[in-house]
Amino acid sequence: DQLGPSEQGRVVSRYGQHADIIDNDGVLIRCHIRRAVDSLVCGDRVIWRRATSSTDGMQGVIEAVHDRESLLSRPDFYDGLKPVAANVDQIFVISSVLPAFSSQIIDRYIVACEDIHIEPIIVLNKIDLLAELSSNEQQLINDCLNYYQEIGYKVLKVSSALEHGLTAMTEKLPGHISIVVGQSGVGKSSLVNNILPEVGTATKQVSDNSGLGQHTTTVATWYDLPAGGSLIDSPGIREFSLWHLEKDRVAWGFKDFRPYLGGCKFRDCKHRNDPGCALQQATDAGEIASWRLQNYHRIIESMDSQKPNRVMPR
Ligand code: GDP
Ligand code: ZN
Repeated sequence: DQLGPSEQGRVVSRYGQHADIIDNDGVLIRCHIRRAVDSLVCGDRVIWRRATSSTDGMQGVIEAVHDRESLLSRPDFYDGLKPVAANVDQIFVISSVLPAFSSQIIDRYIVACEDIHIEPIIVLNKIDLLAELSSNEQQLINDCLNYYQEIGYKVLKVSSALEHGLTAMTEKLPGHISIVVGQSGVGKSSLVNNILPEVGTATKQVSDNSGLGQHTTTVATWYDLPAGGSLIDSPGIREFSLWHLEKDRVAWGFKDFRPYLGGCKFRDCKHRNDPGCALQQATDAGEIASWRLQNYHRIIESMDSQKPNRVMPR
């Protein structure tokens, strides 16, 4: 194939040795990936060259990848950690009234976000269902969300079904590359559909009728948003998790713990009724919420039970 001059592009989705990219005018281009490019995922900024004549339907060749601002990976049974999205800088952690609100699941996502230095935005969806809870349950959710706000996280309360509070969410999109994460059933698809108008389906169509698209449901896809900003989405991303973290990174991921870390009497303090534990003292003094310390312990316990099963590369 004859090739034009080097151009900049952004990876929309990747299929084996091929990738769809968008050029500087937002046009979708199907490209070969040079063998020398050893890793390429959705969101990567690439240098590519246009094919001026093509025999196999490919419209260009990707020759190099720019350095990444961030990289999200998910655990894969065969490959260990599998990178799925590059350059994400904003993560919406979705929770809901039903399935039941769980601060433990939220904290897992927060820790994963903190580990890669991305500020999470905490979203409570389905607030139309709040009235079905007892006032006690409502109070618990509110106390939790208020605490997250006090320690510095942005919190949004929305209803995808009633399209309530969605502008607060879409206002956060311009200037960012965002993803949406959360447990199954909290309303991620519904929210993504609210955020993505027709422009999303246009990109999807091109990817689907490609003949290469058997993996369309698992590969991540890049969407440019009409109001500015971009969204990367796929089932694999929505459930990106943290079990591969080092244990001593977990405590740091609880940012309300940070002022007390290093203050414990013993270096190997488990922060569990150990004598001279600074975290326990701060919790007793009401400076750290006790449910945060509990969630910390549950996360550590779940890591203990998962780790021996798999051998992880690096
Ligand atoms: P996902 O698994 O996180 O992608 O969740 P879905 O978007 O598939 O939503 C799960 C269920 O919750 C669906 O039946 C949705 O219709 C419903 N749902 C989503 N958002 C809301 C909401 O704001 N209020 C109510 N009542 N139901 C919602
Ligand atoms: Zn301690």
